[in-house]
Amino acid sequence: MSLQSEIEKRRTFGIISHPDAGKTTLTEKLLMFGGAIQMAGAVKARKASRHATSDWMKIEQERGISVASSVMKFNYQTGGSDFEVNLLDTPGHQDFSEDTYRVLTAVDSAMMVIDSAKGVEAQTQKLMEVCRMRNTPIVTFINKMDREGMDPLDILADIEEKLQIECTPMSWPIGMGKSFKGVYNLHKKELNLFSAGMKTTDFDSIRIDDLSDPKLDELLGNQADELREEIELLEGAADPFDLEQFLIGSQTPVFFGSAINNFGVKELLNAFCELAPHPGPRDAMQRTVNPDEKSFSGFCFKIQANMDPAHRDRIAFFRICSGKFEKGMTVRHHRINKDVKVPNATIFMAQDRAHVEQAYAGDIIGIHNHGTIKIGDTFTTKEVLKFTGIPNFAPELFRRVRLIDPMKRKQLHKGLVQLSEEGAVQVFKTNLGGDYILGAVGVLQFDVTVARLKAEYKVDADYVATDFQIARWVTCDDEKKFAEFRKLFDSALAEDADGCLAYLAPSAWKLSYTEEQWPDITFHKTREHI
Ligand code: GDP
Repeated sequence: MSLQSEIEKRRTFGIISHPDAGKTTLTEKLLMFGGAIQMAGAVKARKASRHATSDWMKIEQERGISVASSVMKFNYQTGGSDFEVNLLDTPGHQDFSEDTYRVLTAVDSAMMVIDSAKGVEAQTQKLMEVCRMRNTPIVTFINKMDREGMDPLDILADIEEKLQIECTPMSWPIGMGKSFKGVYNLHKKELNLFSAGMKTTDFDSIRIDDLSDPKLDELLGNQADELREEIELLEGAADPFDLEQFLIGSQTPVFFGSAINNFGVKELLNAFCELAPHPGPRDAMQRTVNPDEKSFSGFCFKIQANMDPAHRDRIAFFRICSGKFEKGMTVRHHRINKDVKVPNATIFMAQDRAHVEQAYAGDIIGIHNHGTIKIGDTFTTKEVLKFTGIPNFAPELFRRVRLIDPMKRKQLHKGLVQLSEEGAVQVFKTNLGGDYILGAVGVLQFDVTVARLKAEYKVDADYVATDFQIARWVTCDDEKKFAEFRKLFDSALAEDADGCLAYLAPSAWKLSYTEEQWPDITFHKTREHI
């Protein structure tokens, strides 16, 4: 098969949602349609164990579990075409971390799940901000239609307002909660009737070309007229689907359903495969790389450690950007400027790990790492390249590290630098006093860091609170101005593990005030890896 046709059938995406909107349930149903799991409950079981308490052993187990579900690859056929789907897990709940953000730098599109009773929630908003950085196309699924929720038009308005993306409904719900009858697919002109607890992976759609068809009244009773009215209203109000607008992330096609009842999921997956883009060009520092270039290239977006505590074994996840990866390949590691042989890369099938024989743009492979791979590293087979757009994200939570045995300062430094290179946590060393401040976006990252410092570096440390609430990396073209700023803000400045300077502010208000007062300084929310 040609490189081009391998690329065209790939869909690499992640799910963005707020905890409890139904991501796990939807994932499970998607995998069932993909034939990747036979039984409902498989993904759920993983999640259940993820919710266990956060002592060290449990964190270890969780890590094993989250590797298994980091990437779920499955094959799917629709519309006479064959698709290779790579679903990348975006950890939520307690294991929400910077990885969740970074995974989104490795996808070509995203599925957004919204709870119909809650509308847009905080975590979805944050994840959407990351999608915006690359204008990632988004397909929306409004879940839990079997429950009483917000009015569908209000949900769309909420999305448009909070996420600044235009909504175009592809299907329209008939009632909700107890009176939920199903959805009418506006494009296919098909009616899908709902029955709770649908077990089958296939159900019949009823073609209704003309909404005035009396068949509609037979099937829906007095809700038929309601549907007619709503669709008439919609035709005046909503913009039609525009592929171009979708592909640049400014319009999202919206579907309604109920993941737990397996309703509307197949429709969603079919449309997703048809509409979502295959792997496209990626920017590197040197140039833009096309997926159909013959030579292999890829970047590391996630490192998972301690899969086997006996071996200090780490796996670096690479997103392939171009060419073909083949087993046993030798690749160029751009940062250390060396060739490395990759004897046993892993590909992640929905349930198992298998050795990769070959993989293409859009696929994710796992490479064993003994500490030489950092997040953002690029591997190629030809020229030296460095992909961009896999940044550090400004942390949202802070802790000051307290070292219990002062003699272990060197080990502490080494441990923190390595953990930050793996993306486990961000480390800042204050200009004044040289204290270590850790930054994270998920609170579990702090527990993991202390536990790993002890287990892997034999360092006992704990945390004390800090006043910092917000961080921004700072740069300035005007040396003199920058020196002034540094002098005045010395006590609020800290260097990260790569030596980049960050301003740590006690509040969002203080940050915006400082930004206003210092127009020559640029305050960055993300920082590219060096
Ligand atoms: P996640 O936190 O986003 O992964 O959400 P889950 O998939 O775990 O779902 C959260 C809760 O919502 C669980 O109790 C699910 O059973 C429930 N849930 C998921 N989908 C639906 C749905 O379509 N309807 C109803 N009523 N509940 C649902």
